[in-house]
Amino acid sequence: MDSIEAKVVLVGSQDVGKTSLVVRYVNNDFSEKVSSTVGASFFKHKINAGKHTIKLQIWDTAGEERFHSMLPMYYRGASAALLVYDVTNPKSLDDALDWINELRDNCSEHLILCLVANKMDLVEEGCDAIEEGRRLAQENDALFHQTSAKTGSGISETFVDIAKELIGLT
Ligand code: GDP
Ligand code: MG
Repeated sequence: MDSIEAKVVLVGSQDVGKTSLVVRYVNNDFSEKVSSTVGASFFKHKINAGKHTIKLQIWDTAGEERFHSMLPMYYRGASAALLVYDVTNPKSLDDALDWINELRDNCSEHLILCLVANKMDLVEEGCDAIEEGRRLAQENDALFHQTSAKTGSGISETFVDIAKELIGLT
């Protein structure tokens, strides 16, 4: 049994659902009112993939995304990034390009990037916000996933996909 440890960082504009996604994934819980203090932390989660156990250390922001710039320690040693946008908020998808540049400036060139279209419970499958996101992901060699932290859809698939990529790195 191989065991891998990996740091995963969450980035994206404020209110896109970063904290909600990680709370849903790790605690299987959701709240309409997410306390901002919840974000001042990181979460640990083990994921089994074949003969591998991957110990994820998932870093959530403490509100620094308001300034569109994270502390260097936030990115240090990160193997993967979840770049989240809100499918009901076009500005958050525009912002995603800035986040990609921020990641390129601060992270390893081997960073696994996954663009996440969140709040899927609020839109129709195949809407513009999704197709534009899919295109942005393709242009930037990123994985693409559609999620809802409210219903839980797509979230474990997202982390499993990242885990597969992490195994591919070793
Ligand atoms: P963050 O600032 O990116 O960490 O975003 P939060 O996790 O604090 O979420 C912002 C707001 O969006 C909260 O009111 C959440 O309840 C709500 N939210 C987050 N994810 C979803 C989702 O998938 N669907 C819906 N309908 N609301 C969501
Ligand atoms: Mg948050």
